[in-house]
Amino acid sequence: MKDALENLEREALSEIEAATSKEELFDIRTRYLGRKGLLTGVLRKLKEVPPDERPILGERSNRAKELIARKIDEALELCEAQSRSERLKSGALDVTLPGRSIRRGSLHPITQTMMEICSIFFDLGFSIEEGPEVELDYYNFEALNIPKDHPARDMQDTFYIDDEKVLRTHTSPVQVRTMEKQRPPVRILSPGKVYRPDSDVSHTPMFHQVEGLLVDRSITFADLKGTLEYFLHNMFGSDRSIRFRPSFFPFTEPSAEVDIRCVICGGEGCRVCGNGGWLEILGCGMVDPAVFQNVGYDPEEFTGFAFGLGVERIAMLKYGISDIRLFFENDRRFLSQF
Ligand SMILES: [Zn+2]
Repeated sequence: MKDALENLEREALSEIEAATSKEELFDIRTRYLGRKGLLTGVLRKLKEVPPDERPILGERSNRAKELIARKIDEALELCEAQSRSERLKSGALDVTLPGRSIRRGSLHPITQTMMEICSIFFDLGFSIEEGPEVELDYYNFEALNIPKDHPARDMQDTFYIDDEKVLRTHTSPVQVRTMEKQRPPVRILSPGKVYRPDSDVSHTPMFHQVEGLLVDRSITFADLKGTLEYFLHNMFGSDRSIRFRPSFFPFTEPSAEVDIRCVICGGEGCRVCGNGGWLEILGCGMVDPAVFQNVGYDPEEFTGFAFGLGVERIAMLKYGISDIRLFFENDRRFLSQF
């Protein structure tokens, strides 16, 4: 039996020596030392030998077991070290390469433009009010003097959710919601997303507006003009000419549209301004008394003005972008320029 043990030990050691992979070594371990392994099999026969020989044989077989286990561990370590050094060699690290710079994100150009617009009005004491994008027909239209079947509804194609609810077509409903809960003076801006079913180089189904409202005693059209001049001169430069043109909106009376001298051609005439030399930039007017009545303000006591502008349009003019859809394609090459 002693011979059998020694043979087994020799065979195991030479197999370990010859093994070239971790898998082979694991296999050897199972085959010799496992519960049904060869060495375990020899040990089971220990009870067949005469009692006085047992201690010596027992001690010998324990030594064999420890030796084999140790040799396997050593071989495994060697294997690990070899594969590590191979990995290092194959993926050689060139420490002279320039480091990878960490790309910083930035605000979307529409967000930047919206913040710039708002910060100019903050100088004049305006504060921000927000409202829901899914809006009741009442706030989007009726309270703003646009009853059902009024021809003015045709001015704004609308996404209807049901008979009562729409995706707001402008941020003007926030005016109404604010006036319902607050007595004058009111001096607010409502920036946000609005929705209309249009899509071409100058329209997207979702776009952004900033709406302004100021209500107090003895507010006149001159206040409106001064406010918008201050804004446009800060946004487009103090030497930029501005003009007011009469217009129509159901919720303001009188109403005006405001143009600035073309930022592309400076007034000479170009494709962007349709050769007219002027660019339409926003709509405005004095709040219609009917709107005041809807929110419980006395039109004899209070007057006010409102204005609304499209953020995409301002960003396009400011940065010379010709297609509005670029803003929403999420192309980082485009967005990273701002
Ligand atoms: Zn032009």
